[in-house]
Formats: sequence, structure tokens, C-alpha cells
Amino acid sequence: MTCVPFFDMSATYSDIGRDLEDAALRVLRSNNYIGGVEVEKFESAFAQYVEAEYCVTVSNGLSALHLALLATGVGPGDEVIVPSNTFIATWLAVSHCGATPIPVEPDPETYTITATAVVGKLNSRTKAIIPVHLYGQSVDLDPILELARTKNLIVIEDAAQAQGGEYKGKKIGGHSDVVAWSFYPGKNLGALGDAGGVTTNNKVLAEKVTLLRNYGSKKRYYHDVIGYNSRMDPLQAALLMVKLKSLEQWNFQRAEIAKYYSENISNVLCSVPLTPDWSTPVWHQYVVRSPYRDELQSWLKENGIETLIHYPLPPHKQPAYSELKDISLPVSEGLSREILSIPIFPQLSKKQMEAVVFTINRFKVDN
Ligand SMILES: *Cc1c(COP(=O)(O)O)cnc(C)c1O
Repeated sequence: MTCVPFFDMSATYSDIGRDLEDAALRVLRSNNYIGGVEVEKFESAFAQYVEAEYCVTVSNGLSALHLALLATGVGPGDEVIVPSNTFIATWLAVSHCGATPIPVEPDPETYTITATAVVGKLNSRTKAIIPVHLYGQSVDLDPILELARTKNLIVIEDAAQAQGGEYKGKKIGGHSDVVAWSFYPGKNLGALGDAGGVTTNNKVLAEKVTLLRNYGSKKRYYHDVIGYNSRMDPLQAALLMVKLKSLEQWNFQRAEIAKYYSENISNVLCSVPLTPDWSTPVWHQYVVRSPYRDELQSWLKENGIETLIHYPLPPHKQPAYSELKDISLPVSEGLSREILSIPIFPQLSKKQMEAVVFTINRFKVDN
């Protein structure tokens, strides 16, 4: 039996471990452990990579979203449109501002939100929209940006799952007001600990996030606003700088695996994801769908193949948002019952890919 882990971090380490160790050692010996040149270097490299003017790193993806919202002026009484099918951080960031997350259902084919669905949720309290490039697949941004322009709304992209992804041939990172990133270890570009950042073409917003992440302070011990301590460590910046060099190659390998899956999974009980023509996805997850999801997951497990569900419970069904427990969002509820993420990571071997496809294609239900 070929065992297939869901994700194997050690494979990355064996590829570039020496470079990571050199970078870590350089920081350990630098006598500087907050901010500084390592952080600045990564910020300019990442901004350049995603074709944005500015990158401001922060401590994690949730802080990136939170500080982006604060910088754009979102606060108590405001409503912010969020997808009903996202990782809870998208919602939490809104709640942390004292604003209210207003869920909108995704398109049932692409799993991302559309301008048409957003329109129905707008009112005089609506302040911002957070499209999420879920699973590394880009949202159709142009209609959302157009809607935001006409209604005077802010757009903050949650690109935590989409490092290197493109929308209509241009990198995600500078299309909207602010783009929020996570560099959690499991993301396509992941640190070796928590890390995040925002990118933007708006100098004022970049300066606001820079202030907010560092105690509201520009000059040491002088504080302009009630800020936070949300900085990225130079150690993580140095490690990310090493990993950024491989990102294009890794995303290419993910795309090859996705292509193999899409061309070879042929079980009628299991459908493969769709790629809309505006999106060049980076396959953070490869998500199949089946009305017999739980049985499929057990079958794969019995055959040594590890899978995960992104996500088993939508935010509105979480105890954290118990005030919404009685609302009905059938698209995201249906997805949470039927979706299954199968192994996809750059170093997945041909033999492992074949085992995944072979096992899925032999899956059947007896009734
Ligand atoms: C990972 C993730 C986040 C949060 O990132 P952290 O770095 O874990 O705080 C936010 N949104 C989405 C869609 C994510 O996948």
C-alpha cells in the first residue's frame, strides 16, 4: 500500500534545508530580533513578486485582515460582506473591529463569491467587501471592484490561500484597496511559524498598517494611535525570503498534480473542481465533491490516503457565532457536507498521485 500524507513539510525541508539553516543562523548571529533589514528585504521582494507598490508584514493572516480593515476605517456599526464558506479568520477580523460580518453565499460551481450575490446584501451600513480566493482559485474581481466603485465601498481581498495566483493574467496582490496574506506554515508560501502581511498600492493605507502593527508608533516611545503589537519576526522574514525563490516552481508542481487529478479521476460519485477562465489557480487545496463524502473519506483512509475537509462547519454554524445558528445558508451548508480536500503538495510523487486516483476510481457505495 502506498501511504499518502495530506501534506509533508519535511519534503520541503530536504529540498532547501541548507538555505533555511543558513538564513536562520544569519538572523541568530545578527543581534537584531525585531524588524530591520531582513523584514524590509522580504517586504520589497514580496511586493515586487505580487506586482504591488507596498508590502507591510504583520504577525499572521488574521492580523493582516484586522489591521487592513482598521486602516480602511471599518469600525463599530459597519457591515462587511464576507463569504459564507471561508476559514473563520475572515469573519473574526470583522468582528474584532466591532463591525458585523454579513455572509454571502458562494457560486456553487466555483466556491467563490460573485458581485451578483453581493448586491443583494448591501445597505446603508455596508462599508467593505472581503472576497476570499478560496483554495487558491481567484474570485471574479472586476465586477466586485466595479460594484464597490459605484457604491463607494472598500474591497479587501483575503489572499491567504493564493500566493502566486493570478486574476486575468495579473498577479493577485494589487487589484483592490488592500490584499491580506497569511504565511502560516501550510500555505503555498509558508513561514516556519506564524507570519502574515498586506499588500497595497495605496501609500496612506500602507502607512496606517505600519503604524497599527507597531504600537501606533512611528518614533520610538511616541504613540499616534491605539495600535497593536503585530510585527513579523526577522527570523520568519529571512526564512520566507528563501522560500519565495521556490514559490513559482512549487506552484507549477501543484498545477501538474491538479492537472493529473482532473484528467484521471473518473468516478461518477466524485466530481473534480472547475477552473473559471479568469483564474490561474495555485491549488492551495484540490477539493473534490461527493454526495457520499464521509464514505469516500473512510475508503481513502483505509487505503492509506489522508484527506481533510475545508471546512466541516461554516462560520455561521460555529458556537462563536451562535446568534446566527438559525439562519439558513444552503450552499455553504451543502458544501460542508460534500467537499473533500485530497493530498496536493509540490513533492507529491507520481506513485502517490497514481495511488490517489486509483483508489478514488475504485470507490463505490453498496446499497
Ligand atoms: C489561513 C487563513 C487565514 C488566517 O491566517 P493565519 O495566518 O492562520 O492567521 C485567513 N483566511 C484564510 C482564507 C485562510 O486560509
